[in-house]
Parts: sequence; structure tokens; C-alpha cells
Amino acid sequence: MAERYHNYVDGQWTESETGETFETTNPAAPTEVVAEYEQSSAADADAAVEAAAAAQEAWANTPAPERGAILRETASILENRKAELTELLTREEGKAHAEASGEVQRAVDIFYYYAEKARDLGGTVKSASGPHTNLYTVSEPVGVAGLITPWNYPIAIPAWKIAPALATGNTVVLKPAEVAPAVALELFKALDEAGIPDGVANVVTGFGATTGDAVVTHDEVDAVSFTGSGQVGQLVYEKATEDGKRVQTELGGKNPTVVTDSADVDEAAEIVANGAFGTTGQSCTACSRAVVHTDVYDEFVDAVVEQAKSIEIGPGDEYDMGPQVSESELEGTLDYIEIAENEGAILATGGGQPEGDRFGDGYFVEPTVFTDVETDFRIAQEEVFGPVLAVLEVEDFDDALAVANDVQYGLSASIVTDDHTEAERFVRDVEAGVAKVNEKTTGLELHVPFGGVKNSSSETWREQGDAGIDFYTIEKTVYDG
Ligand code: NAD
Repeated sequence: MAERYHNYVDGQWTESETGETFETTNPAAPTEVVAEYEQSSAADADAAVEAAAAAQEAWANTPAPERGAILRETASILENRKAELTELLTREEGKAHAEASGEVQRAVDIFYYYAEKARDLGGTVKSASGPHTNLYTVSEPVGVAGLITPWNYPIAIPAWKIAPALATGNTVVLKPAEVAPAVALELFKALDEAGIPDGVANVVTGFGATTGDAVVTHDEVDAVSFTGSGQVGQLVYEKATEDGKRVQTELGGKNPTVVTDSADVDEAAEIVANGAFGTTGQSCTACSRAVVHTDVYDEFVDAVVEQAKSIEIGPGDEYDMGPQVSESELEGTLDYIEIAENEGAILATGGGQPEGDRFGDGYFVEPTVFTDVETDFRIAQEEVFGPVLAVLEVEDFDDALAVANDVQYGLSASIVTDDHTEAERFVRDVEAGVAKVNEKTTGLELHVPFGGVKNSSSETWREQGDAGIDFYTIEKTVYDG
């Protein structure tokens, strides 16, 4: 039986005033309906924002350790339900079981982390010029936060926005991606069970141009945190800044791994394949370009093709790589494969949908490697968001760095090298928000800042760790004479 979800507004599970719903299906078996959701209108979103605005002052005045206790309880409820949430995430979004389990655990850890942070909130004491003046700073919440999230980490990304916002005394309205909202709604069930006061945390499901837009443009929303595609992010950024809101946008990537002539080639191939094909390539930090020194190029291509071929594709918990999330994402990837072939790239492995009974009508696609890619090819410039790796050959380190930086994006970048000087230069000169040495481009711990440069992010704010706290707070300087 498909689950029927409602919006959570002002502490109540409510139906949309439209009376309309939409469904999601299992990307590994698209005839299976996973759940049904409210197709909310702008008025539904407005009601959620108004509930959040009404609840904000009392929540801000709730002692921070008490707020933290609710976050801790939420984490514990999610943790107890980890197996069930993992299964739901896999069924709706298609992530391989181990990856889905890791993502649910990340959401749990984020809630525990910000529960502890809530205990530690405060300001700083400064020395004052006046002999009897107490001079200090305090952190205050921004107000109501409108949160817009994508489908590719459908519980972790909502968690990394909601937890710091709530810890710091903000109230929130989440509009999760319509492709996979179930686990985000389960997160609100946990918040409800943990005793979150009415109106403090709200969620409305629906489509971006109506429900999402209403959240972003509402007068009573003070801060907007958006993660998603560049095109929508740009629009959201313009609308929210026009209204004077605090806004952060976390967008796409075209993340390179540079492989130098001193690299251990097998290690490099493993690092690149893990970065490129993990989460079916549907990660903003996925490695989509291997930039390889000419002296190790042939050996690297053989090794990375070997890695790609060893990946077991399939549904559920027995396989390494699940399907793409939707038919349109699958078509997008297949289109890019055709574009790359037409541009003159050489298909080294993959390039289509796998065949066999277990794949059914699922949106599966093979891990795909293109060689002989030039930096001006579209496959080397545009985000595919599927398991497609472009391999580019370079003459030397300077060339590698230039190619790595020759894109509009700058989210994550890595280098595989045995040369410390090259590693240092790469870390210094690569245009990326995250730089890694001898590690894959994907994966970041929750206590370090995350964000990009160039068209990967609005650069003013970061997420995660203390940066999460910063976005949702305003510092006030106090003179007490
Ligand atoms: P998307 O931009 O299509 O949608 C993201 C969210 O925006 C959804 O909830 C959608 O309903 C909403 N939306 C759409 N139009 C809107 C509008 N006019 N106003 C307000 N909201 C609107 O992105 P997606 O396909 O869900 O996610 C994939 C993209 O997300 C990729 O480009 C990926 O790189 C990016 N991403 C970035 C990060 C990061 O941290 N940098 C992390 C994960 C994903």
C-alpha cells in the first residue's frame, strides 16, 4: 500500500486547500507507487510561513538547551527507525542500500551534532574602553527560514538546514523536492513525536514554481536556504535578495580529479570511480572529469574501465549502484552520452541501459567512461548528474590545473599524486570550495564548512558545522555601562 502523506503546518497534519495530490514511484520498478502527497498551492505555503512567523518569538525565547533536547530526541527517534527509513529512501529515490543507510545515519548525526551545538551557543566577551562597561556580543536568530531542497539527498540535506536553524531559535518551512519527499516527511514525524512546539517546524509538498516560489517570496521569510540546480538557484537568489532576505544557494558541480604522473594509478582509478559512480553519479560533488597526465593516461584508462565494469548494478540491497531517480534524469544522461559521442569522445565502457531481468523498466544506466575528451566538449563542461566520467589527457601539472579550473563551477576538486609540492599547489590554486588530496571528490564530514565558488554557490555563506550556525544567526553587540 502506498503511503498517503500530508503537509505538517502549525503542528497539524493537514490537507492542501487544492484537494489535489501527486505520486512518486520506485525508480527501480516505476509501476510501483511509493506514496501520495499534497499538491500544495501558494496559499498552503503562505499558511505554513504564517504559522512559522507566529511561533518564532516563543521558540527564540525557549532556552537553547531545551531546543537542543528536542533535536536530540528527534535524532534518537530517527536512529531507532533507521532500517525502515533506509528502505523507504531506497524505494523512492533508488539509492543503493548501503548509501541510503549512510545517508539516514548522516541525518541522525546532524541532529545529534546541532543538539550539542545548542548547548554551546552564545557570544563573546570583549574588553571595553569604559572602566565599568560590560561589552559583549550575543547571537540572535534570523527569524523564519524558508528551506528548498533537492531530491538527491532527500533526508540529509533537509536535516543539515533544519537542525542548525532550529538550534539557533529560527522557525522553518521546508519545501522538499517533489521527486522524493517521503523521508523528509518522516523527519517531520520524528520532530512531532519529539515534541517540537506547534508552528516551529513546517513542511509543505508541491511543485517548485508554485509552492517553492511562495516560500521564497513570502514577506515573513527572513532567510532562504536553497540547494538544487543552477538555473533554479539563480532565480531563487534573485527573488530572495530583491526582497532583502538573507540567502544561500548551493548548486551544481563539474568536479575534477587530477591524476599526476607520480600517482599510484590503481589507487587513482579507485578514487575516481568511487567519486564518479557512487550514488549513481547523482551527487553535486560527483567526480565527472578525470584530468590525467599523458605518461599514465593509457594505464589509468584501463584501470578506471576495469573499476567501472566491476560495479554491480541493480535494485535493493544486494547491489553497488541503483537506478537514476526518474525517467527524465535517465533521459538526460542518455542524451549526454549521445552528445559526447557526436562531439568525438571515445566510449570506453558503458553507454546505455543494462540488460537483464532484474532491471525491468527501471531507470538503470551503466557506469560510463569517455576518453579523448577535450575541455571545450559539453561533456567536459556541463553537469550530467548521472554515472558518466569524462577522461581528459594533459601534458603536465600546469595544464592539468588549467583544465581543472576551466569550467563555470567550483564545488569539489581532488588530486591524486605522490608529489607534495604539486599537492600544495593544487590546494592553493584550484578553484573549488573543497580541495582534496588523494581522496575522492565526494563525501564531507558534517562539522566542516561546505560550499563552492564560481557558479556552484552564492559565496557569502557556507553550510554545515559552525557555518550552519552563522547562516541562521545575527550577531548583536551589547554595551552595558
Ligand atoms: P532543482 O533545482 O530542479 O530543484 C530543487 C528544489 O527547488 C526542488 O524542491 C524544486 O521543487 C524547487 N524549485 C524548482 N523551481 C522553483 C522555483 N521557481 N522557486 C522555488 N523553488 C523551486 O534541483 P534537483 O533536480 O532537485 O537537484 C539536483 C541539483 O541539485 C543538481 O544540479 C545538483 O548539483 C544540485 N545539488 C547541489 C548540492 C550542493 O550542496 N551544492 C547538493 C545536492 C544537489
